[in-house]
Amino acid sequence: YQAKRGGSSVAWYDQSRDRASTDRLSLLAEVREALAADDQLTLVMQPAVRLGDSGGVTGVEALVRWSHPRRGTLMPDEFVAVIEHSELLGDFTRYVLDRALTVAAAWAAEGIDAPVAVNLSPRSLLDRSLPRDIAGLLAKHGVAPERLVLEITETVVMSERAVIDQVLSALRQMRVQLSVDDFGTGYSSLTFLTRVTVDEIKIDRSFVWRMVASTEAAAIVRTTIDLAHRLGLRVIAEGVETAEQRAELTALGCTSAQGFFFCPPVPPERVIAVLHELTTAEVITLRQEDAS
Ligand code: C2E
Ligand code: MG
Ligand code: MG
Ligand code: MG
Repeated sequence: YQAKRGGSSVAWYDQSRDRASTDRLSLLAEVREALAADDQLTLVMQPAVRLGDSGGVTGVEALVRWSHPRRGTLMPDEFVAVIEHSELLGDFTRYVLDRALTVAAAWAAEGIDAPVAVNLSPRSLLDRSLPRDIAGLLAKHGVAPERLVLEITETVVMSERAVIDQVLSALRQMRVQLSVDDFGTGYSSLTFLTRVTVDEIKIDRSFVWRMVASTEAAAIVRTTIDLAHRLGLRVIAEGVETAEQRAELTALGCTSAQGFFFCPPVPPERVIAVLHELTTAEVITLRQEDAS
């Protein structure tokens, strides 16, 4: 079948592959500039709130944005995958951690003890220097290790499992918290929980969105909450957008939730005000500058 294809289609295929790899290389050159520029890669922060009567914030997740000089604001889905498979991953990871801990140190100074969560690329767990680098950054910012949550997903790189286990156990010994992101999807599965000791599970937003209409999705959410409780883990529902979803999660005993319904990701300058507001109000009143 392949051989019967005309030469022109093969040539077209090669050309598009070349273009893709050229795009990738130019993007990486721009990432390198952005890491040096200091004002292009920024963070927005999204709180997770406590469900039930008491209210309050259970943590704040840092999410990266790229104010690209020509392409406008880029979302992580548009560039993180390219960084993940390059030699820039280590620098990028440290950059994000450094920024997130800077913000967390500022709200700790205001008497707010919420932990900060940072997303790690699964491939970061192949970097043996990660625990030492994180210890250095925690010390630099004077943030206690318990106040840093690393959000991880299961990695596809099974052959390097020994390294991953070493890195994770070094992080655990440091008392940094581990959270399984996007639980129930892709590589964040039940097996992962038997391999890695974690503190928290984040229920993937796709289940939260479907749970009101689908009894299957609702059963999965209920079971995940129950599983977390049986394992003594915290559980956060992601992507909560409606009062109905909030009510159903509360009824199922979910203790923490994150999503546009409560608060969108906000710029770091807004975090302290938002955290204060969420101790008295359940949802944040949207303002023009609350861009996600
Ligand atoms: P994630 O860790 O599951 O992050 C949650 C994503 O859902 C964020 O998208 C957030 O803006 C979005 N979100 C929050 N609440 C709602 C909601 O109610 N409705 C909807 N529709 N979306 C909601 P974002 O910021 O585009 O990030 C996408 C993914 O990119 C993240 O998924 C995470 O896996 C990755 N990512 C983000 N920042 C970083 C980073 O600094 N490093 C690495 N390695 N990955 C990152
Ligand atoms: Mg996350
Ligand atoms: Mg994720
Ligand atoms: Mg997630």
